[in-house]
Amino acid sequence: MTRRFTDPTLLIATHNQGKLEEIAALLQPFGVSCISAKDKNLPEPDETETTFVGNARIKAHAAAKATGLPAMSDDSGITIDALDGAPGVYTADWAETETGRDFVMAMTKTHNMLEEVNAPEPRLAQFRCTLVLAWPDGHDEVFEGVMPGQLVWPMRGDQGHGYDPIFMPEGYDVTFGEMDRWEKNKISHRADAFRKLVNDCFA
Ligand code: IMP
Repeated sequence: MTRRFTDPTLLIATHNQGKLEEIAALLQPFGVSCISAKDKNLPEPDETETTFVGNARIKAHAAAKATGLPAMSDDSGITIDALDGAPGVYTADWAETETGRDFVMAMTKTHNMLEEVNAPEPRLAQFRCTLVLAWPDGHDEVFEGVMPGQLVWPMRGDQGHGYDPIFMPEGYDVTFGEMDRWEKNKISHRADAFRKLVNDCFA
């Protein structure tokens, strides 16, 4: 049976302030106050698994175990059909440089790889988000959200972040990079996963 969340406080297993604020706003109507792994000075565990759920589990369980509080993590990325699901869990890694993340470089690399394998159009891809809610006793609940779409080239739009300028969600003729944030946040992979989480554990 799905375990419902009944505590007053939820630890968000992230050091990313943007993620914390987004999640805290979503859960605020349910009377839950959120604190982050950074507030608790927790180390960031290595994401050594090869699946989104594996890495999300590492982050949520490490935080729950270290603090004795229920903890939630988010792991996300893009999977591309013609690249056998790459970059997947390595989505952020493709953008790493010695001086920080460079997503124009990552998107250019993605396009070049698709050209190399002569990938047919439409170049189908999916944004994916996995949420894991873990309790200190080791129990967890997993929620997966997906947004199917296709990749376009060249990049379009300056909204959003990451790979947004080359991703055109199914049923739209604009990229996530051209869509306003409010519109994207209603239909995204993260919204899909959150709907499931709230429905099962909070509502
Ligand atoms: P994480 O923060 O380790 O889960 O890394 C996920 C990576 O996936 C991010 O660095 C982004 O590049 C990419 N990503 C996830 N969601 C989105 C999105 O909504 N738009 C664009 N890129 C995304």
